[in-house]
Amino acid sequence: MANKNTYDVVVIGAGPAGYVAAIRCAQLGLKTACVDNWLDEKGEHQLGGTCLNVGCIPSKALLESSEHYYRLNHEFSEHGIKAQNTRIDINQMMARKNKITKQLTSGISTLFQANKVDLHCGFGQLQTNNQIQVTPLGKMTKSYLLNAENIILATGSKPLNIPVAPINNEKIVDSTGALNFSSIPKRLAIIGAGIIGLELGSVWNRLGTKVILLEAQDEFLPIADRLIASEAFRHFSNQGLDIRLGARVTSSSIGAKQITVSYQEKSEQKRIVVDRVLVSVGRTPHTKDLFAADVELLIDETGFIDVDQYCRTNIPGVYAIGDIVRGPMLAHKGSEEGIAVAETIVGNKTQLNMDILPSVVYTTPEIAWVGKTEQVLLKEDIPFKSGIFPFAANGRAKAMNADSGQVKILSHAKTDKILGVHIIGPFASEILQQAVIAMEFEGSAEDLARCIYSHPSLSEALHEAALAVDNRAIHAINRV
Ligand code: FAD
Ligand code: NAD
Repeated sequence: MANKNTYDVVVIGAGPAGYVAAIRCAQLGLKTACVDNWLDEKGEHQLGGTCLNVGCIPSKALLESSEHYYRLNHEFSEHGIKAQNTRIDINQMMARKNKITKQLTSGISTLFQANKVDLHCGFGQLQTNNQIQVTPLGKMTKSYLLNAENIILATGSKPLNIPVAPINNEKIVDSTGALNFSSIPKRLAIIGAGIIGLELGSVWNRLGTKVILLEAQDEFLPIADRLIASEAFRHFSNQGLDIRLGARVTSSSIGAKQITVSYQEKSEQKRIVVDRVLVSVGRTPHTKDLFAADVELLIDETGFIDVDQYCRTNIPGVYAIGDIVRGPMLAHKGSEEGIAVAETIVGNKTQLNMDILPSVVYTTPEIAWVGKTEQVLLKEDIPFKSGIFPFAANGRAKAMNADSGQVKILSHAKTDKILGVHIIGPFASEILQQAVIAMEFEGSAEDLARCIYSHPSLSEALHEAALAVDNRAIHAINRV
């Protein structure tokens, strides 16, 4: 009889990479277990990792609440809707966020049961001979071993700490702390104007906090297309986000009530006094103690596990996916890697096209892109055409009072194949997905131009941008 602790697959980590991998493995008929050690603030185990507990979902819940509050105070009067003495109940806003995350994390638990994925709540450590040592959470700490033919490492990442502003989760917090403020800070300094800084900065700015972002680089959002990034910078500045580029934090000191943050901007030494500091300077892979000392797993100098295009590590039967391996730290990237590994294990053919990986910043307006930017095409000497269409000429956006932004399509100068799509505007994330599908099918701008779009819809802006690639947009003046 097979040992109850012997599996076809053991996954370590139940974030969006690991739990998706485990479910797909089980669907494919593999005897699967998942080891996970996430504990919430009450000390209870929760599935879903960073994304569901302190990442994608709670941040979007707060973005939604704060956006409603902002619009009520600043935009609804234009519709003729008058409100007086509005106030936000932070406790209720947080309770709503917590309820949503709880619903989703317990949903994964139901999915594990339905798919017969065995859950081992504890810390998993890779041993030699494809064994995993599990140290259970809680009082019962006696470790035990699991045997597995295949092991998938999916232990995710954690916030980077910098010595000039060490996180103490009171006054100097990481993203988890900034998702849980119990009152609205008067002044918030954010170190790092990347995706977390912009999303969480937007939340608190909309609720009335004076937000100052200190960004070390001279360029704003360097991974985005320059046209889109410069428009985003303008909108965020108009909303009151004070983004200081080329600002290097040199020290911070915590006083009785406030914190002084010193930084260097160009050659000048400056300082600001704030109530709270959010450090959002990137994340680092979670590989501490993940494997025993005699396991010769290859990791690079920054802590990422070395994998090939199929997420295979240097140890046969051991795979790694999600934030602990190369590529952008995005939930959907980890999930797709998880599915691809499950298929590989059963011998199915898989191919992950990382060139067509969408990215979204969930600010207002939203920023979303896929494929290459104009600056990359220029650098790589790839000939291209571009079509741009503004939401200001889109009827649905006007009716929604959300007509800021534009759609930009880049296609190959000779073949017209779509090379990149860059959007800033309302529901950019949803519109972008059409471009992702078109690119996955190697579509051209002409393909998008020939589709019939319902009117009025925000997606018509994508249609018009596709028409603009060949100077035939209808609702904009084309280049001569
Ligand atoms: P994780 O989600 O980090 O999960 C890893 C799991 O492994 C955790 O449960 C951890 O406790 C467990 N673990 C670690 N070590 C061990 C061990 N040795 N034994 C057992 N268990 C272990 N991405 C997006 O795509 N869209 C977004 O909108 C988005 N918003 C974000 C907002 C914030 C504030 C943050 C912080 C991140 C956001 N991300 C977003 C990034 C996203 O959360 C990560 O890319 C994603 O969670 C990575 O998934 P993962 O499964 O690799 O790791
Ligand atoms: P990030 O890499 O997006 O941004 C970090 C920023 O901090 C960069 O602009 C960097 O130049 C700056 N920086 C680094 N060191 C600094 C210093 N000492 N002083 C000042 N600035 C400094 O990282 P993040 O915002 O922390 O997010 C972490 C990860 O989480 C990202 O990889 C992102 O993909 C993921 N995430 C995704 C989403 C989304 O998909 N919507 C949302 C949140 C987080």
